[in-house]
Amino acid sequence: LRTPDDQFNPDPSKKTLVILGTGWGSVSLLKKLDTENYNVVVISPRNFFLFTPLLPSCTTGTIEHRSIMEPIRNILRHKKATVKYYEADATKIDYERKVVHINDESEIKGDTSSTEVPFDMLVVGVGAENATFGIPGVREHSCFLKEVGDAQQIRKRIMDCVETASFKDQSPEERRRLLHMVVVGGGPTGVEFAGELQDFFEQDLKKWIPEITDDFHVTLVEALPNVLPMFSKQLIDYTESTFKEESISIRTKTMVKKVTDKFIEAEFTKPDGTKQLETLPYGLLVWATGNAVRPVVKDLMSQIPAQKDSRRGLSVNEYLVVNGTENIWAVGDCAIANYAPTAQVASQEGAFLARLFNSLAKTETINLELASLSNQQSKAPNPAARNEIFENIKALQKTLRRVKQIGPFEYSHQGSLAYIGSERAVADISWLSGNFASGGTLTYLFWKSAYLNMCFSTRNRVLVCIDWMKARLFGRDVSRE
Ligand code: FAD
Ligand code: NAD
Repeated sequence: LRTPDDQFNPDPSKKTLVILGTGWGSVSLLKKLDTENYNVVVISPRNFFLFTPLLPSCTTGTIEHRSIMEPIRNILRHKKATVKYYEADATKIDYERKVVHINDESEIKGDTSSTEVPFDMLVVGVGAENATFGIPGVREHSCFLKEVGDAQQIRKRIMDCVETASFKDQSPEERRRLLHMVVVGGGPTGVEFAGELQDFFEQDLKKWIPEITDDFHVTLVEALPNVLPMFSKQLIDYTESTFKEESISIRTKTMVKKVTDKFIEAEFTKPDGTKQLETLPYGLLVWATGNAVRPVVKDLMSQIPAQKDSRRGLSVNEYLVVNGTENIWAVGDCAIANYAPTAQVASQEGAFLARLFNSLAKTETINLELASLSNQQSKAPNPAARNEIFENIKALQKTLRRVKQIGPFEYSHQGSLAYIGSERAVADISWLSGNFASGGTLTYLFWKSAYLNMCFSTRNRVLVCIDWMKARLFGRDVSRE
């Protein structure tokens, strides 16, 4: 039961487990964790869980962003024991002192906006930030696609470009620039966004603002020879041919080197291996070139000698313990465990840690009971009582062996899915007998039902369905907020 002023009263007999982040890894851990075994504290600047697979659909208004958000308070209030949540950024993890420094980065601040939280056990699930590789101008001029705010900004900018291009006396060249939507990065984020944007144009923008029809154009720029490197060759070819049909240009072997407010400068590698510098004008630039390590994670890595060779995140062992520590675990995109940084991996890692922590707590309880029983046994008044205690000890030892039987983390890959626009998707699915690759409209229906099924709550599922129906019946909303 919560105390009247909702103050957190840690139970001194329990360990304090601090969980950083409210993303796929941390929330999956929280869902399955028996919170009554620990004093659980959650710290994250985001007071909701975000269902990222449908985030590209929020950039065009196919889905409203609130439909894929689940308040963390709603998740926590269903836990058996109180879990304390602080809306804050972890700015530093002090490994020696076992404290996390936290900062309230929100707009409204009280008298106290930074403090420390002590921990006995810590789970780092802070995800990753956007990689820019230090390319000049990227941070200043492009939009990213990781958080709700990014999707909202893109949605606004698309309409801003369209309305500015339609401004009276705009020159044809400037119109073409403003209506050139460039996506950098041909991984799944870039591909899904490009597909969604072209759908928006074909299904709504073209009808509502026909004068932009000839000039609106989407270009996907990728440094490697093809897009979607994690998919099979067959699905890469299918995606590229679908994009061609949809009139999305793909510029592969093109590495962006510099970004200014109206142009990107890129180096194109010609078939003979020579390089050519190109300048592409753009109205909207979406930057989707993958993940980089967050500063708080980099700082923790610098405190632990065993992490000195890690570059892409916290290296962890097979139990997800951060190498070089005993009481810190890492999950998701900030952990390097030889798996791709995906939601699938993060949620399985979170669920594994919940099982591990539940088992650790049970082990401790059983060990205490065993110690007490042995004590009673030595003082038992007669052989019959001693025998009875002996039987209880045997049963408990059996339970202990079962509880302790938790093996190392093993990832089970269910497959990869991506939406590629015009109601088509690609899927590389691992089923019983092997891999199954498919692309097309049926795969799109599978994509829709799989993602609907994976949504966090029934409320999310209903809202997403309503959004899909609204977009089909009335078209997407083109007003700029
Ligand atoms: P996140 O889910 O990013 O969560 C990190 C959490 O940490 C957030 O709550 C954040 O607010 C918090 N945080 C950040 N900094 C701090 C700090 N300093 N202190 C405390 N908390 C902090 N994967 C798939 O498997 N399938 C898909 O279809 C798919 N689609 C995607 C679509 C998009 C547009 C994107 C961007 C990603 C997609 N992914 C997909 C990848 C997937 O979202 C990530 O791999 C996953 O979110 C990683 O989970 P995580 O818990 O590590 O991090
Ligand atoms: P990514 O790392 O998968 O792809 C980034 C791409 O950007 C790479 O192909 C890279 O070659 C390219 N790139 C990098 N620098 C460049 C430059 N200067 N110029 C041009 N191209 C450049 O990144 P992502 O798509 O953001 O995905 C991040 C993670 O999230 C991945 O693990 C991905 O699998 C996962 N994800 C999965 C899905 C899905 O399953 N549907 C959707 C989105 C993201």
